Amino acid sequence: MTYGDWALLQDRRGRVYLFRLQPGGIFNYHRGSIRHEAIIQAGAGRFIATPQGERFSIHRPTLEDYVLQMPREATPTYPKDAATICFLLDLAPGMRVLEAGAGSGGLTLYLARAVGPTGQVWSYESRLRHLERARRNLGEYEDWGNVTFVQGDLAQAELPPSSFDGVALDLMEPWSVLHSIVPALKIDRFLVCYLPNLTQVVTLLEQIKTLQLPFLHERTLEVQHREWDIRPPIAHPKFQQVGHTAFLVQLRRIEHT
Ligand code: SAM
Repeated sequence: MTYGDWALLQDRRGRVYLFRLQPGGIFNYHRGSIRHEAIIQAGAGRFIATPQGERFSIHRPTLEDYVLQMPREATPTYPKDAATICFLLDLAPGMRVLEAGAGSGGLTLYLARAVGPTGQVWSYESRLRHLERARRNLGEYEDWGNVTFVQGDLAQAELPPSSFDGVALDLMEPWSVLHSIVPALKIDRFLVCYLPNLTQVVTLLEQIKTLQLPFLHERTLEVQHREWDIRPPIAHPKFQQVGHTAFLVQLRRIEHT
């Protein structure tokens, strides 16, 4: 670890603190403080304590840590869902993927990592403030130069035909942008929509049926992680869990309905 890197300290209750290591920087806690220099000297995967004896483990933040802690304009796609979107899109290094809206850049970071430095992410966002936040969050964590941010409404976009291996939509009314996506998504590849409400899922599927759009509804699912508290003799599901986030709708582009 060195100056400029992100560091994550975890206290004995599992609470995490994310910050950038700076020359002369100090991590302040209610029971003492720790110099950034001392954190660098100790290194990731080790422990460090304040003079008052408050102990922390030192880590490099994972992508999940970063997305949950980073500054936000819009609510980021929850990491468990973002990882599943990459899986449902069947992404691999070198692929080209389209997303909207960029929001805070949470899903963008996952997509960019899945397609790797040789792949490409095109990320549409209609609101400038959100786009700038997404660009900044990407640049401050991991930027391989494989993301192109476009300010604009995806519904108005003219995209090159058959140019994307996958499309991810995290916006309120995905049905309003389907006409832009259909020609741009390669045949037999996937569109995944992230929708908090079941009413949105129903509207999306009804619109696809009514407009006879060339998509097969593969599946709609929720990603549920049930965490456990295991400190024998205690061993039970945690009392506080992440509740509902959203439904994931996986659609496959076909030639004709
Ligand atoms: N997935 C993002 C993340 O992980 O940070 C969060 C997306 S946020 C919930 C939804 C975003 O979609 C908003 O920033 C909104 O401005 C944008 N948006 C909504 N409709 C859009 C459209 N038709 N074209 C482009 N962006 C759109």
